[in-house]
Amino acid sequence: MSLLEVDNLSVQYPDSAAAAVDGLGFSIRRGEALGMVGKSGSGKTQTAMAIMGLLPGNADASGSIRFEDRELLNAPAAILNEYRACRIAMVFQDPRSALNPYIRIGKQLSRILPAHGICTAAEARERTIAMLSKVGLPDPERQYRAFPHELSGGMRQRAMIGAALLGEPDLLIADEPTTALDVTVQAQILRLIRDLHEETNSALLLITHDLGVIAGSCERVLVLDQGAIVEEGKTREVFHAPRDVRTRALLAVAPKVDSPVMVEPVPEPRETVLHIDHIAVRFRERRSDRGESLNAVQPMSLCVAGGETIAVVGESGSGKTSLVRAALGLIRPDSGTVSFVGKKLPADLTGRDNATCRQLQMVFQDPLASLNPAMMIGQIVAEPMIVHAPGANRLERLGRAEEMLEKVGLDESLRDRFPHELSGGQAQRVAIARALILQPKVLICDEAVAALDGSVQAEILKLLTEEQARTGLSMIFITHDLAVVRQVSHRVLVMYMGRLCEVAGNNVVFDRPRHPYTKALLSSVPVLDPDNQPDEVPLSGESASMLRPPPGCPFHPRCQHAVAICSETAPKTEMLDGTAVACHRASELDLRN
Ligand code: SF4
Repeated sequence: MSLLEVDNLSVQYPDSAAAAVDGLGFSIRRGEALGMVGKSGSGKTQTAMAIMGLLPGNADASGSIRFEDRELLNAPAAILNEYRACRIAMVFQDPRSALNPYIRIGKQLSRILPAHGICTAAEARERTIAMLSKVGLPDPERQYRAFPHELSGGMRQRAMIGAALLGEPDLLIADEPTTALDVTVQAQILRLIRDLHEETNSALLLITHDLGVIAGSCERVLVLDQGAIVEEGKTREVFHAPRDVRTRALLAVAPKVDSPVMVEPVPEPRETVLHIDHIAVRFRERRSDRGESLNAVQPMSLCVAGGETIAVVGESGSGKTSLVRAALGLIRPDSGTVSFVGKKLPADLTGRDNATCRQLQMVFQDPLASLNPAMMIGQIVAEPMIVHAPGANRLERLGRAEEMLEKVGLDESLRDRFPHELSGGQAQRVAIARALILQPKVLICDEAVAALDGSVQAEILKLLTEEQARTGLSMIFITHDLAVVRQVSHRVLVMYMGRLCEVAGNNVVFDRPRHPYTKALLSSVPVLDPDNQPDEVPLSGESASMLRPPPGCPFHPRCQHAVAICSETAPKTEMLDGTAVACHRASELDLRN
């Protein structure tokens, strides 16, 4: 018998002609893991919100959602509250926005239990600490007392999973639970969800745009498009022999680490455009009374040639963003210099001339947050010209903005729209158009495609690589997505806790990783084949505190190849067959598959 039965569910909003969910029907049995995939806007989250009774007030929902024998769709709040948390619970995509930043983790979680009559407030503390331990938090008593910002992204998501499981729900809905996480943390969280689901024999509805995540976690899958199910079946059968053209399209654009490289070779002779020379970044810890400081980037050097893309990878807090922000002059490095086409630049952006600033542009992760909500798209794209091309009048600026919109594949009619009227993919194209309107020599993309689904991501990557082939643009591509790295980069820089692990050519890093951390990153990428899933999580544990890094190699507490010297002496960077690598054992380890 089904635990959850959804029948002919439709969700409609007054300001939209098309239904967000259009006659959806499916069921989940106890103990079953069901995957739900589809592009953004395909109705996945709306379906989850309808099940949880969390649709906004202006949503018109019809059909039926039966949990066991109870109809939940449009049920009164008192009924829904009987089910939420203790029978059905949900893990949201972004733990940062799902947790109240002002309230300690323990207090937020433990109050769920008495609120739903599961236990008394006195018992709630013990049960919460036990749950924090169960979801793998290393020091549950301490994390109970911590504020959300004091935990890493992976720890916050573990805490959110713990919150969802506190009431021992029969159905867990996980909506993009790992999209905001690094690939190694993603592998840990998916394993945790899978283990807990198996251990408690609960039902799991896993919603994601990442088909690799489904392949490793769900026995059955629903493929959604425009609010309707277009294909449904056993994961193995759907993935190996997709029947619907939209499933085939999703599988075709799913990023894979063996995807073909999209970039043209770097033009010869190589000309260094950007030279980062021994840059170190240190932040003083304001709350520390011991005058502690955090070494975000240890002295590091990097040359970027004209027409070259360097991918910078590593988990959150590894120093990727600090490194490029120091190069752009957005933060002041502690030491080192930055040169652009042979000319040394002032450390601060304020000291740099306009001509240099226009040549170094950046695209940020969250396109909507980086676009001024009060300005129209045409004005946003044209705005950099006010400072950097003062000779151009308003009409010339808007004309140029229209050209750029066309170039990034957007209709010129969007010129008079506001950012909130755009999809995530359209907004990121606008951000790219704004960055490229000044024809920069270097474009820095900080997780620029992380929030986009497969097809939109593929379009944006194609756009950038075509622009590079046409203009010789150099790019630094910060990403935690190894499949993106594979497609768009010429060289790859891997960082861990502010230090360089290795730098090498794209093919070399993927075929012959030299550093154990690089190997763990590559092994953590979700595999699209349901029959070929890894048995083990490639990397366990959390990286150490940046305020108190471990002695020696910072990776040694998590490295399965560590030997005595690793905990005593930090490895120096050395060259090994064209790879610059910092590992005591690089020359003896063979980390190929
Ligand atoms: Fe592992 Fe030692 Fe190499 Fe560090 S130096 S990556 S601990 S083997």
